[in-house]
Amino acid sequence: MIDLSVEARSLLATLGVADDALTGDLPVRSPVNGQEIARVATATRQMACDGIASAHAAFQAWRLVPAPRRGELVRLLGEELRAGKSALGRLVSIEAGKSPSEGLGEVQEMIDICDFAVGLSRQLHGLTIATERPDHRMMETWHPLGVTGVISAFNFPVAVWSWNAALALVCGNPVVWKPSEKTPLTALACQALFHRAAARFAASGTAVPDGLSVLLTGGRAVGEILVDHPDVKLVSATGSTDMGRAVGQRLAARFARAILELGGNNAAIVTPSADLELALRGVAFAAMGTAGQRCTTLRRLFVHDAIYDGFVARLKSAYATVTVGSPLEEGNLVGPLIDAAAMDRMQRALESARALGGVVTGGHREGAADWPDAYYVRPALVEMPEQAGPVLDETFAPILYVMKYSDFDRAVALQNAVPQGLSSAVFTTDLRQAERFLSAAGSDCGIANVNIGTSGAEIGGAFGGEKETGGGRESGSDAWKGYMRRATNTINYGTTLPLAQGVSFDIG
Ligand code: NAD
Repeated sequence: MIDLSVEARSLLATLGVADDALTGDLPVRSPVNGQEIARVATATRQMACDGIASAHAAFQAWRLVPAPRRGELVRLLGEELRAGKSALGRLVSIEAGKSPSEGLGEVQEMIDICDFAVGLSRQLHGLTIATERPDHRMMETWHPLGVTGVISAFNFPVAVWSWNAALALVCGNPVVWKPSEKTPLTALACQALFHRAAARFAASGTAVPDGLSVLLTGGRAVGEILVDHPDVKLVSATGSTDMGRAVGQRLAARFARAILELGGNNAAIVTPSADLELALRGVAFAAMGTAGQRCTTLRRLFVHDAIYDGFVARLKSAYATVTVGSPLEEGNLVGPLIDAAAMDRMQRALESARALGGVVTGGHREGAADWPDAYYVRPALVEMPEQAGPVLDETFAPILYVMKYSDFDRAVALQNAVPQGLSSAVFTTDLRQAERFLSAAGSDCGIANVNIGTSGAEIGGAFGGEKETGGGRESGSDAWKGYMRRATNTINYGTTLPLAQGVSFDIG
């Protein structure tokens, strides 16, 4: 077995993480071969509270730094990410099991959001609004909100932090990050890159307050400290719907703000007019890429009965031949599941599907002899008689449930008939169907695509989903507003005091 701990340590050293950060109670395993590659320490309650206190203190200073100057820090972070891209991308592959191209792609997404946030730092604008009173002006101003907590999932171990941190920092907020307990090493690396950027920023003339970026490693209990702390004004939490339900209720109880980015159960519809070559590639990447471990992974497919047999036969042959194996070797398209529990959940879902009449192709473990402690599976394609049982849930593994349809509106209704509402797609060359899918009567998801699969969003658009996906929006468009507080200001530049709505209050 190749020793990945040596390579992981060397990458961490390159990225600026000192060796003494790599000890503690929390073992970190690579899903590539199951090996323990390092240990990190779980933050104690005291460490977490101290970290939040230092972030709160940093807020007092950072909110006063002009936003374009805050953008300069994020620009430097983007430069550090560019310089560290290959090392950090490789570390993502080792720690999260992504292919080299997907590991690098994740870091590229971080660079992209930094670029976006730098521009945004000169665009944090409000409206000027007509008032009903003479000699008055009304406007809105956006102010920094306060300490922003980030809780992230294992499957995008670094990009999710950057989506939040780049925006929060230009908006004037310090960030306290609790990464997944399964991927703390890449988080340590991001923190080290932030410190490099901060040192260069300080050298250019503006002090960076301690506590502007805080990392708290550990599991759920550490996340709960962030969620309950009164000085954390916003928590952006990415993970399962169960996690979001718990976190959302606790934040609501103290009226804190939440951005919830939770599970998806994404669907695509392949219509008779579709470009079937394009649809095949779009479906294959969305369903099998990242071993089915993306929130936007394609999990349900509705194929029109006129093209069903031919299309599904071709899809099955792609499932039979796709290369499964170590993501560190070029050419493998499907890497490992994150751990044994993910494998068990996949097998249980396939059993339930079979019990409901589902016909399963693939889905079995592969390479167990070579990788006894790692969990590689052949992606599963399951032909289902109807949408029921496990099809209604998100199983975080490469399972694609395929169903036949004959009426387009019925297919759209079935697509919407699940609790989650993240991503959706239609493959069609029929303009009417495409527009209907995007209309108010169409997909009810936060992401609705035409002739593109459900996964692989860009940072320019707002990212997130409806219903049990949580309703949060991150990244592009006007998602920045979630990180700021809005004040409406009315200014009287006249000499009288007319009251709104014609109210009179004459004190004589
Ligand atoms: P998870 O819910 O097990 O854990 C996510 C994070 O939440 C971890 O850091 C964990 O320690 C923390 N956590 C769990 N319970 C908590 C609690 N009660 N209070 C505070 N923190 C808590 O998810 P996972 O297995 O790491 O990731 C997979 C899930 O994430 C899937 O459901 C996937 O769809 C979802 N996801 C969603 C998006 C999105 O943008 N919608 C993106 C990536 C992943």
